[in-house]
Amino acid sequence: STFIQESATARLAGPPDHAPRTHASHKGSYGDVAVIGGASGMTGAALLAGSAALHSGAGRVFVGLLDPVAMSVDTSQPELMLRDAHALDLSGMTAVCGCGGGDAVRELLPRALSTAAALVLDADALNAIAADPSLQAQLMARGRTGAPTVLTPHPLEAARLLGDTTGGVQANRLAAARALALRFGAVTVLKGSGTVIADATDAPPVINPTGNARLATAGTGDVLAGMIGAALARRRPAFEAACEAAWQHGHIADTWPADAAPLTAGALARRTPA
Ligand code: AMP
Ligand code: MG
Repeated sequence: STFIQESATARLAGPPDHAPRTHASHKGSYGDVAVIGGASGMTGAALLAGSAALHSGAGRVFVGLLDPVAMSVDTSQPELMLRDAHALDLSGMTAVCGCGGGDAVRELLPRALSTAAALVLDADALNAIAADPSLQAQLMARGRTGAPTVLTPHPLEAARLLGDTTGGVQANRLAAARALALRFGAVTVLKGSGTVIADATDAPPVINPTGNARLATAGTGDVLAGMIGAALARRRPAFEAACEAAWQHGHIADTWPADAAPLTAGALARRTPA
């Protein structure tokens, strides 16, 4: 089958290859991340992605909330700059869209797709694209420009984008990731045990060897999106950014102390067993 042929050529993801922070660097050297999400009642997802980007080394992190009421929230993370999502200028930024965005994220997607220097699309951003042929066309158009773009679907989100079922995606994960990457011209991270990373070239997909069921808890996907955003903001190429962040995300879970409290997404973002 295709699956067996492709497995034979798939590669494994490895750890990040970070250049050290050089002596004279400044926050501008590490790039700006703007998280777009946090519709009513879902502020936490956007804050988790922002926190993950911050702890992954982004220079500055803005969290653009779709629910303006939530702007008064005390995040206990003063490094995060809370903004009204509608008022954020994304040009020159790495935008991370989804993250508890609900239906409200849809109206911001045309601007994110056309102006963000680099883009991560997760969760409700992917669901909005799956439901809207005009957004699909805009994503394909972005792909043709070569602007760095990473899709991070879990199997159900991938199924919606492909017009398939979750079972169909899971039965052929390598092919599903490649199909999405080729259709949209975007690096695709198909999440779940054995996360698959594919790009729109003929290169074989990568399978991430790290991670475990400790990650099966709310918010860990938002953390991965933020980690990829930070790597893109420091100008790692999209495929490397996705592979390295997936490896790191799983590695934190793999090295979680056995006697520590259960992994939570907040602690994963801070890389500190609480
Ligand atoms: P989401 O489905 O968006 O909440 O994201 C969940 C994150 O946790 C993804 O990065 C998954 O790859 C990871 N994850 C969840 N369950 C497992 C598992 N059993 N083994 C490895 N990774 C997992
Ligand atoms: Mg998710």
